Amino acid sequence: MTATIISGKDLAIQKRQELANEVKLLKQKGITPKLVIILVGDDPASLSYIKGKQKASVETGVEFKLEHLKESVTENELLQLIDRYNQDPFVDGILVQLPLPKHIDEKAVIEKISPEKDVDGFHPINIGRMMTGQEAFLPCTPAGIVELIKSANIEIPGKHVVVVGRSNIVGKPVGQLLLNEDATVTYCHSKTNNLRSFTKEADILIVAVGKAHFLSADDMKEGAVVIDVGVNRTQSGKLVGDVHFEEAKEKAGFITPVPGGVGPMTITMLVHNTILAAKKRLS
Ligand code: NAP
Repeated sequence: MTATIISGKDLAIQKRQELANEVKLLKQKGITPKLVIILVGDDPASLSYIKGKQKASVETGVEFKLEHLKESVTENELLQLIDRYNQDPFVDGILVQLPLPKHIDEKAVIEKISPEKDVDGFHPINIGRMMTGQEAFLPCTPAGIVELIKSANIEIPGKHVVVVGRSNIVGKPVGQLLLNEDATVTYCHSKTNNLRSFTKEADILIVAVGKAHFLSADDMKEGAVVIDVGVNRTQSGKLVGDVHFEEAKEKAGFITPVPGGVGPMTITMLVHNTILAAKKRLS
């Protein structure tokens, strides 16, 4: 079997066109959605992620502002800046790029962002709303994964989803979102015994570990839907996922590539959340 490739790149192009149309309508009503990203320090990976977020914002007509702070900024100064944007009626979304330097408490920063402007969906209030199935800003990577699965017309109810990885930003919320969609969800992590006995049972296998080629064809069921979240750089500088793509695509039914799978949809969902926040100005 050769898997159908679920292209996040293609889906992102289509979704961004739809989002651009929504922004046009908002602008006719006098509202320009605005996203502020706060970066502390000069981490090259963070700078590259922000570039992608800026490009997607500009493409869709969302106003974008980068607050680039020195590594030496104090936690208090950062919290005050967030508060200024919390109060600004023309700012719809605030995102603090993670990771932060060690002297700043990440939790305090996330909790300082107004839940109504938390377009990353990391605030405990949004996480609680998501858990209880209420309207919320959904975390971007998990929400993008659900969109990818649905775009391929894959039925979710009743399916056995196995999530490898239990981080707060990917593993845990993606399992929760798929549980909300009536899947049966199993979580695996570094303390799971006999991990492969679970991955082989998955109808939908989501891998978010951060280790190049962690799983391969032998670790999955024939025809499984494989969503590869991992982004890893090999010694030769090539970007690869957590799944051995070349081998897995001969056994899976559907598979996302790296690059061009989950990544473009993560960024698209951020723009989606910013527009959702801006729409609240209408009410
Ligand atoms: P993370 O916070 O480092 O979490 C990794 C998870 O993998 C942990 O739950 C860990 O288990 C589990 N794990 C590690 N070694 C394992 C093993 N040998 N067996 C089973 N589980 C193991 O990473 P993350 O933030 O979730 O990100 C995961 C990957 O996705 C990274 O490559 C990251 O770059 C990528 N990512 C991509 C996007 C995108 O948009 N494309 C977005 C976010 C993240 P424990 O909890 O037991 O330690």
